[in-house]
Amino acid sequence: MLAKIPNILLIYTGGTIGMVKDYKSNALKAFNFEQIKDKIPELNLLDCEIDTVSFDAPIDSSNMSPKHWVKIADIIECHYKNIDGFVVLSGTDTMSYTASAISFMFENLSKPVIFTGSQLPIGDLRTDAKENLITAIQIAATQDGDAPKIGEVCLYFEYKLYRANRTTKVSSEQFEAFNSPNFPQLGESGVHLIFNDNVLKKVVENKPLIVRKNFEANIVILKLYPGINEQIVKNILEIPNLNGVVLETYGAGNAPTDAWFTNLIENAINNGIFIVNVSQCISGSVILGHYETSNHLKKIGIISGKDITTESAVAKLKYLIGENIPANKFKLVFETPLRGEMS
Ligand code: ASP
Repeated sequence: MLAKIPNILLIYTGGTIGMVKDYKSNALKAFNFEQIKDKIPELNLLDCEIDTVSFDAPIDSSNMSPKHWVKIADIIECHYKNIDGFVVLSGTDTMSYTASAISFMFENLSKPVIFTGSQLPIGDLRTDAKENLITAIQIAATQDGDAPKIGEVCLYFEYKLYRANRTTKVSSEQFEAFNSPNFPQLGESGVHLIFNDNVLKKVVENKPLIVRKNFEANIVILKLYPGINEQIVKNILEIPNLNGVVLETYGAGNAPTDAWFTNLIENAINNGIFIVNVSQCISGSVILGHYETSNHLKKIGIISGKDITTESAVAKLKYLIGENIPANKFKLVFETPLRGEMS
């Protein structure tokens, strides 16, 4: 129950959003995030209390790893009881991976966790950071009666609110850096902040929060391309201690039908490596058996990633392997939507 004005925790992990230009050297450098309200005095006008926590050493999101995912989850878990909503500031480069992983970590989430960042630093005249940050906080603070409006992990960027584990970074230059190709946006910021109630996850407040943090599995992303050969595929599938593969296939989940390819994939599956078929296409779904060129994969028991993004597939594969899901149930569990990450 929210009896008072909401309190929001800003978690700064690094990235462009928290940088200012050093006009002497012309380089971007991190500023002390505790001073965020000095940089954006408008934050004082918001109808919520804002606390901040920052990574001791903020990172470019290219350096993000599962250990940082766990660090973010620890902060959220530690403050979960007393905070009404979380805004996680991260670099955009790997934000979709991080936010997807956080979505799998928290079962029965009933409070908002909103990821955002920016393409230009907060100290830049034309920055997109202000709008992204202010609106992300407003979204995290939005209530529906006594309960938070949002109870899932989202990504807010350039006026659009997305389900985080459906997003992918599509531009390194445009302010509209993210897209959610296979799932409608959850909301939009215009003159009014509008939520798409039909697709928002229903907030259920009375279930205990479960947090899972084992993401140490060894996996690879194997992207097919015309001309990929037996030696390359063999070497990859024979990486010692490999647990899982996100196989990026063509179109609706299609792959070469050469016997060597089928045999290598089949052997890997029989050796206990979990292989998920994800499409290289930005939108659409894997449909095993739709073409002859995916029938062979269907027969040997490849897991269908359906319309999941590669980012989310990486996070889900690591999550489920970390959970020690038994081999005979793994395919079924992976193919089941757990946090709205697939249709
Ligand atoms: N390289 C930066 C990062 O991902 C870009 C950004 O902040 O958007 O950390």
